[in-house]
Amino acid sequence: MQRGDSLPDFYGGLYLPEYEESKELTDNKIEEITPRSVFIEESRVSLAVGEEAKISVQIGDEVKIGQPLSVGSNLLPLSFASVSGTVRSIGTVGDSEQRFIEIENNRKNEKAELREDGFSSSPSSGKRDIWSYTREQLLLLMERTLLTGHGGAGFPAYKKYQTKKNIDCVLINICECEPYLTCDRALTVGAAQDVIEGAVLLSRAANSERIVVCIEDADLITPLSKTVKAAFRDVKIQKADEHSIIYRSGSEDFSSSRSRSASSPSQSWEIELLRVGGKYPSGSERQLIKAAVGREVPFGGLPADAGVLVSNAATAAAFRRSVNGGYPAVRRIVTVSGAITKPKNLLVPEGTKIAELAAVCGEFTEPLRSGRKQAAIILGGPMTGEWATLDTPVPLSVGGVTVLPAIFGEEGACIRCGRCERSCPAGIVPYQIDRADRAVLPHELLSLSAGACIACGLCSYVCPAHRRLTAHTLHAAKLARRFAD
Ligand code: SF4
Ligand code: SF4
Repeated sequence: MQRGDSLPDFYGGLYLPEYEESKELTDNKIEEITPRSVFIEESRVSLAVGEEAKISVQIGDEVKIGQPLSVGSNLLPLSFASVSGTVRSIGTVGDSEQRFIEIENNRKNEKAELREDGFSSSPSSGKRDIWSYTREQLLLLMERTLLTGHGGAGFPAYKKYQTKKNIDCVLINICECEPYLTCDRALTVGAAQDVIEGAVLLSRAANSERIVVCIEDADLITPLSKTVKAAFRDVKIQKADEHSIIYRSGSEDFSSSRSRSASSPSQSWEIELLRVGGKYPSGSERQLIKAAVGREVPFGGLPADAGVLVSNAATAAAFRRSVNGGYPAVRRIVTVSGAITKPKNLLVPEGTKIAELAAVCGEFTEPLRSGRKQAAIILGGPMTGEWATLDTPVPLSVGGVTVLPAIFGEEGACIRCGRCERSCPAGIVPYQIDRADRAVLPHELLSLSAGACIACGLCSYVCPAHRRLTAHTLHAAKLARRFAD
């Protein structure tokens, strides 16, 4: 996209080299892969909500897609099979503390029968009108299908949407958070209707009547605009300018609802398609809220404290599909990019090992070894991803696997150039925090607000002295928290 100065913006940040050079990542093609086996975490959410998982299958069991593999103390599912096949092992993988359930794929794509409980239907029994669900029913469906954020953090969406705060706006994030990643763009081009209808369902789950779809690439406006007009009858343009189109609906305009029941809840709503600048990290929640609706999330607070909930486009589409058939989301689009000859967007069942993704993306262009000076595998994007190996299973929350070329130099002394401070979107001073953290000065750390760091990685990226500023800022934040307690 053009680096438009007049687009809604936020403090700090940086324009990073984008994916323009990589045609494979901009053609919006998605290749489906069929892994030999998958490794499903015993719980998608236990670390986030403190819920312990009880595995409900045994080695040798036959399982089908969507079948629960473990449950929590309330007997709701905490993980699902993403392929059909046989349970081959249950145990840890790599350094993870969680157990993984290995399923050997029988390649039959058999789907589990779902319960007739008013929230799901068996594949043969027809579909319920998606607009007939109330807020409470949507929240329950989120919980039963274990909807988690697809934007990186993997936080359970039902926890977020259960908020008692007054929410007047839901933001749908289609700004790729990191350079190289194009998974949300490919999803939006291929499944704009799922994204838009999912956004409306999420706004109903939040009890909000306003949706802002935040878009980085200008060429996504047209398909999304056509989708809004085709999906909802009587929708009208309320306002339009070069950066934004605002549509307003009546209260009874869901054209895809052919057999609307008299008891269906009605809701009018407003949906805005808004272009925001492509500066990194525009996809980060706080920065997106500031750019899109001009509000600040209070320090130590959550988006809900500013009256806003933010969900990724892939989360919205996954919710739309779950509402349609009652099945949990068990696969997602993952961008494989970096030092590899055939970067691609792949449709990947949850728990597929990175080795199986890399196998269909050509050759590594640099020797693959562990360590900071060689090409390395990153789960996620190059700025905020985590070090991984070919054996790491890809969780549902992560949209990228990046083969990071050798770019790290030796760490040198700070030359007080100020680049880290100027680029920091949190408005803190990384070189001062770095110094105070290394010298273990907790008093000073408290006053430097290290806890405001959003772990975007920009300070380390811009530092000519290759200082590990992000790692020290995050460590400082922990130290300051302990000192304050
Ligand atoms: S201090 Fe934190 S928020 Fe600021 S640039 Fe570094 S990683 Fe990003
Ligand atoms: S970018 Fe690096 S060298 Fe420049 S002020 Fe920050 S820490 Fe020092």
